[in-house]
Amino acid sequence: MEIAISGCGVTGTATAFFLAKAGHDVTIFEQAAECKPIGAGIMLQPSGQIVVEKMGLLESLAECSKRLGGMVAQLTTGQTLVELRYDWLEPQMFGLGVHRGRMFDLLLNACRKQGVKIVNNARVINCRGMDVGQGQKVQIQTEDPGVGKAFGEFDFLIAADGSNSKLREALGLRSKTIEYDYAALWMTGQSSFQPNHLFQRVEGTKHLIGLLPIGQGECSFFWGLKSTELDATRRVNLSDWKEQVVRLCPDSESILSTVSDFEQFTFAKYRHVTMARQVTNRVIFLGDSAHATSPHLGQGVNLGLEDAICFSDCLGEWTEKAQSNADVFSLVCQSFLKQRASKVAYYQQLTKLISPFFQSDGKLKGIVRNLFLPWLSHAPFVRHEMLRTLAGVKRGWLR
Ligand SMILES: Cc1cc2nc3c(=O)[nH]c(=O)nc-3n(C[C@H](O)[C@H](O)[C@H](O)COP(=O)(O)OP(=O)(O)OC[C@H]3O[C@@H](n4cnc5c(N)ncnc54)[C@H](O)[C@@H]3O)c2cc1C
Repeated sequence: MEIAISGCGVTGTATAFFLAKAGHDVTIFEQAAECKPIGAGIMLQPSGQIVVEKMGLLESLAECSKRLGGMVAQLTTGQTLVELRYDWLEPQMFGLGVHRGRMFDLLLNACRKQGVKIVNNARVINCRGMDVGQGQKVQIQTEDPGVGKAFGEFDFLIAADGSNSKLREALGLRSKTIEYDYAALWMTGQSSFQPNHLFQRVEGTKHLIGLLPIGQGECSFFWGLKSTELDATRRVNLSDWKEQVVRLCPDSESILSTVSDFEQFTFAKYRHVTMARQVTNRVIFLGDSAHATSPHLGQGVNLGLEDAICFSDCLGEWTEKAQSNADVFSLVCQSFLKQRASKVAYYQQLTKLISPFFQSDGKLKGIVRNLFLPWLSHAPFVRHEMLRTLAGVKRGWLR
């Protein structure tokens, strides 16, 4: 089949890889002049590692990443709020602290090796169905002043254009986007503090600091803040700001010593996206474009990777099974949604529920969290469920 993908992020590249490997002719359309990752580090969960392993890239990725035993969140007083260790779930289980750029390079190279075509400067703004002799095809429309023309004819389009996808509206699909008031400043740098877990410190619901080791002596640092406070934060004297952060989280001193300008930080907003229907005539939405969440559970990349392999597997299965005149695309989509809906809904709903307990204006939520989370995370059943959630292996609220 001839398949178009809009968006060259993790979801787009992973989907392109699996489809090209299965023998399809795949073209990725990317709005940026150059394909590159946005943001700093990510935590690749066991669920995402399985997909990367199936791509044959896990060993190379692990070599340039940091193997992590779990996560620890503390109050700024040093008291442990929650500690989760993968080996409490499975002795061989671990997380990977990954540099986004390194992971993205591996994915992009793997796509190129499979013959995936990449068109840059091509912002997909719409697509239209066309009746051709053999059935329905789709034509991609990109915006000026990029490549600025229509591309076609593709058997279908996979929209993997992220949480801010404009295609949802262009195709008349009902979706809901919540823009969180809270966001984060991110940066990556050398750090002598190298825990073997994701380390977070919180104070109330206003201050959230994180250090994620990502290999090669580096950590990804994040500082949670309210979006409206971004300008004020940038205007503060940098040394005064660093002093404030180090007071709350002394372990961040090493990485912050590499910062000489606020420009070293990337600002990341959080969005929560739900779609009433993620499939329309010859188009399916995958990854953040269909189900973005805030990063508090760190599952977005993992869910996008799973979407990629699941969709490709469904296509493989139905290409073999379907009668010659059947609409394979709609059978594939039905099968895909059946397999993914419950897991995606679980992670989205849970993330939405817990996010305000870590970043919001609600003081009381911070107090409730501090009272109940340590206690809950010691209750064997709850701890087990928390671990399964962190590892990305929950398949629904009851599964
Ligand atoms: C601060 C922060 C921390 C995070 N930490 C983690 C973590 O630890 N673990 C984890 O699993 N997830 C994490 N996430 C979530 C993760 O980053 C996302 O879920 C993931 O990047 C989504 O990948 P995607 O490919 O679906 O979308 P994106 O990464 O957004 O990629 C979309 C691509 O589409 C392109 N594009 C957009 N519009 C168009 C268009 N119209 N035409 C063509 N191209 C277009 C964009 O330029 C981009 O290249 C975090 C997110 C944030 C914000």
